[in-house]
Amino acid sequence: MYDVNTIRADFPILSREVNGKPLVYLDNGASAQKPQVVIDAITRGYAEEYANVHRGLHYLSNISTERYEAVRGIIARFIGAGSENEIILNSGTTEGINMVSYAWAAPRMEAGDEIVLSVMEHHANIVPWHFLRERQGVSLKWVDVDATGALDADKVIAAIGPKTKLIAITQLSNVLGTHVDVKRICDAARAKGVAVLVDGSQGAVHAPVNVAEMGCDFYAITGHKLYGPSGSGAIYVKKERMDEMRPFMGGGDMIRDVSKEVITYNTGPMKFEAGTPGIVQTIGLGAALEYLMELGMDNVAAHEAELAKYAREKLTGLNWLGLQGTTPDKAAIFSFTMEGAAHAHDISTILDKKGVAVRAGHHCAQPLMQHMGVNATCRASFGLYNTKDEVDVLVDALELAHNLLG
Ligand code: PLP
Repeated sequence: MYDVNTIRADFPILSREVNGKPLVYLDNGASAQKPQVVIDAITRGYAEEYANVHRGLHYLSNISTERYEAVRGIIARFIGAGSENEIILNSGTTEGINMVSYAWAAPRMEAGDEIVLSVMEHHANIVPWHFLRERQGVSLKWVDVDATGALDADKVIAAIGPKTKLIAITQLSNVLGTHVDVKRICDAARAKGVAVLVDGSQGAVHAPVNVAEMGCDFYAITGHKLYGPSGSGAIYVKKERMDEMRPFMGGGDMIRDVSKEVITYNTGPMKFEAGTPGIVQTIGLGAALEYLMELGMDNVAAHEAELAKYAREKLTGLNWLGLQGTTPDKAAIFSFTMEGAAHAHDISTILDKKGVAVRAGHHCAQPLMQHMGVNATCRASFGLYNTKDEVDVLVDALELAHNLLG
């Protein structure tokens, strides 16, 4: 039984006030709040069990290594990877995608080779590919979304040509809430020998994920959106792809031996994990994922689907609000503009006075903004602890903003 009030009590920050009003936190797409179990894991990590990992042979180093390494298995379980050896721990999606660009894509692409992208990618899944365009003449092939914000998987598949080496695609748009049929894309790409990187930054937060069934080559997640600490994350890399990757960053932990003349590398994921990692952040991510698995991602998805339906009905009732992204099964992520050209920043400032936290701007998705013909939107993005009452508070605050700015 999914009892949202009991769940809310797990998140201390949700009981605070902002500007004299109860906090209505609708900026989960940017970063989610943390349950007490995560805060406790971080506190315990520093207060009782802290030392560097993989290095010492003393008690604290052993326990900290044990806790840290256990998270690899937790992540594998959470995303349905066959083995924890396919999980590279990192600081988040941005690092994960940059690693794939440098370690896998750059050495196997030459001028004229293509990467297929959708127009609704986050900059983290655009800029690392632009690097390859600038540095080695790789072409970026863009696939548009339609007027509802839907991305037709067949259009992505049709964009695959003889020079295509990679498809880099989001599972769920951080701006529009559009789901992408990534399994269909992966199936078609595999048949044509093309690798697929799926940006799971938003997708993994709102529904169960199984990368083995999806059949992707790379799947990036970021801890702070999964109710875990910032500076934590991981990327799933299929074994065959990992074997093809050159090292990314150089330093301690990723090598086996170093001499004045030569180096030999570590094997498996550790070959790509140089230096002292975010030890306690990663341990906190493990606690967050265990919390999510205990709630059940199916239950989280069902709760959010109900919220999305309710919010959609309410928001479409505001005929001066321009909702961006109207696919029937969209996630509870609502971007909008307001008639009368009120700036997104002004709208969000008024909402803030009512205790409602939303994001305003381009959401690190400027090609999508250009496609939609807007400079900025406001975005209300819901999480597992939000309620229908909070939708009502949002709607009241929007009416106030419209009265003041419209
Ligand atoms: N991809 C998507 C779809 C996102 O929403 C985000 C964060 O907003 C990212 C990538 C980048 O994540 P991070 O900044 O945690 O690396």
